[in-house]
Amino acid sequence: MSAVHYIGRFAPSPTGPLHEGSLVTALASWLDAKAHQGQWLIRIEDVDQPRCIAGADEFILRQLSACGLIADADVTYQSKRFSYYEKALQQMQRLQWVYKCTCSRADIARARQQNEQERVSHHHWVYPGTCRLVPKNITAEGAWRAALPETLKHPWQWHDRRLGKQQQCLPESVGDFVVRRADGLWAYQLAVVVDDAAQGITHVVRGEDLADNTARQQWLQQVLSLPTPYYLHTPLVCNAQGQKLSKQTLAPAVKITQPLSVLKNAAKHLGLPNMEAATVSDWLNQAVLAWPYVRQ
Ligand code: GLU
Ligand code: ZN
Repeated sequence: MSAVHYIGRFAPSPTGPLHEGSLVTALASWLDAKAHQGQWLIRIEDVDQPRCIAGADEFILRQLSACGLIADADVTYQSKRFSYYEKALQQMQRLQWVYKCTCSRADIARARQQNEQERVSHHHWVYPGTCRLVPKNITAEGAWRAALPETLKHPWQWHDRRLGKQQQCLPESVGDFVVRRADGLWAYQLAVVVDDAAQGITHVVRGEDLADNTARQQWLQQVLSLPTPYYLHTPLVCNAQGQKLSKQTLAPAVKITQPLSVLKNAAKHLGLPNMEAATVSDWLNQAVLAWPYVRQ
């Protein structure tokens, strides 16, 4: 049997310990890599430094290793990779895929009111393109935004290994998104695309809450001439009130004293059968055999 070329990753943000939901994603990405005889990497996404918590990376790595989820290469940190994000931004600048935006939040709100545009999602307003129409000095203080082309009015289509065919009209639902923030911080979208390519990631397995970033990321891959991996978005875990588990909903940290029960619980969320085993490694071996998303 010839092995598929496979490099996967788990990419936690060290903003707190792993909870039940993030462990489901970690386990899914590990199982998918192992079921494809692939490599599994860990990348600590500490790009948004003000949101990171000191020591959370170490704690996450301890939680993972207690569950037998150990990376096949050294753990990488986004905070050490800023020069690569800078190079990618320069490439986009040369190709004129970005422009400087000096708008404040208030400017954007005002422009939107004038344009009488609708609020598109619960989280954000689509940027009205003010600084694209009236170009700003590139040395001015401000954010760098992607200049989405007209062609994206045709929805971006992509395939998810679990959810099937997906599509998103980027100018309508996202707009000219930020790749580097006005405060100098790198945006997740750019960092993740640069790092997935640098690490040779062939398969991205992550939570469904991130699915609607995929079109943006695939467009960035195209613009930067980087390969596009396969994508699989895993089911979200909700609490008894039906809210997605997160720090905001006060999801408790996964306890590392009972890794087998943690793993069994995660497996339930992934639709895996109930498996009994005496040790973590026996349990993981069984789970690899039961993993349904092979050859997809
Ligand atoms: N760092 C992101 C998070 O923890 C995940 C990024 C990704 O998997 O693409 O939500
Ligand atoms: Zn602007």
